[in-house]
Amino acid sequence: MARVTVESLRKEYDTGSVVAVDGLDLEIEDGEFVTVVGPSGCGKTTTLRMLSGLEQSTSGRIRIGEEDVTDVHAKNRDIAMVFQNYALYPHKTVFENMEFGLRMSTDLSETERERRVVETAEMMGIEDLLEDKPDELSGGQKQRVALGRAIVREPDLFLFDEPLSNLDAKLRTSMRAEIQRLQRELGITAVYVTHDQHEAMTMGDRIVILDGGELQQQGKPTEVYENPVNEFVGGFIGSPSMNFVDVAVESDGDRLRLAGPDGGFEFDLSAAYVGRHEDALDSSRYTLGIRPENVSITDKGAANSITATIDVVEPVGSDNFLHLDLSDEFIARVDSDVDFDPGDRVTLTFDEADVHLFDSETGRNVL
Ligand code: ATP
Repeated sequence: MARVTVESLRKEYDTGSVVAVDGLDLEIEDGEFVTVVGPSGCGKTTTLRMLSGLEQSTSGRIRIGEEDVTDVHAKNRDIAMVFQNYALYPHKTVFENMEFGLRMSTDLSETERERRVVETAEMMGIEDLLEDKPDELSGGQKQRVALGRAIVREPDLFLFDEPLSNLDAKLRTSMRAEIQRLQRELGITAVYVTHDQHEAMTMGDRIVILDGGELQQQGKPTEVYENPVNEFVGGFIGSPSMNFVDVAVESDGDRLRLAGPDGGFEFDLSAAYVGRHEDALDSSRYTLGIRPENVSITDKGAANSITATIDVVEPVGSDNFLHLDLSDEFIARVDSDVDFDPGDRVTLTFDEADVHLFDSETGRNVL
């Protein structure tokens, strides 16, 4: 298995008019599971294709283990890739699909190849399908075969390109768990691309967030969730999304007062809290960010509280999402035991530790 190093990786298309990946630096540890996530067009697939060798980079270096593979052809990189559309050979049986790559990339004997295929098929629970052709299989079974075909080769690095997107929600959940189990058991190094932030958060040891071809943030899922470096990451990670409200920031003695639009609310950040961050507060326009799960209902007139009107009550089982009239989209996630109706006035509060403050111009998180 292998450590992967990516240095200043760049990919331009159409003679430079499209910059798909813009100076990406990444270090992926041996045995680590890294998820790469971002909105459509952010450069996820291009990054993966450059790692695999299917796409040549415009500049930058890629190292897998000790080897600089930047100019090494895809077939000579010890990598297995699992695609969204399975990419199985339609006229070959499951056995032949799994055995083919092994035959091409190794000089194992026929007996040894057969032993490896059967052993992997048993590990994947597809041993009864070995004589079937792909069109006789369900989507989930096809993806299992595609995974088995990748695993049987025992490559240095696994690359996954949205492998579960074609499966229904229930199957996706069980396949996620299965991929994680296999990754742990085999100790493989894996890079997993998805546009689904939930999938990225639940599967990755580390999550890498791209936007516009640029690395926005990388870290453990909880770190990124709790400390987004900018407004984009704050809004992209977490569901429902973080709430944003434009605020003016005024000094009030040693505290900071955040004032909502049109005198809608005031929220004081304590001296102790501000003291830890004041060097960063140098802008004039800020956006307050608070996650729906960090907003709670309090008594009318309580300190540091905000009054709002409920537009919509959205029940989601154990919780209700209250859509409030504080900004275009402001949601409070509250216990479903308490009854609320559209039109009700509610008083809200949140803990200052959960408040994010973004510079409205640069998007940078200043707290
Ligand atoms: P999606 O989630 O929609 O697949 P992505 O994050 O994987 O998106 P990429 O497919 O890597 O994004 O594309 C990044 C950018 O590069 C996009 O602007 C895309 O239009 C552009 N691009 C990708 N491939 C090519 C190509 N072969 N020629 C020209 N532009 C391309």
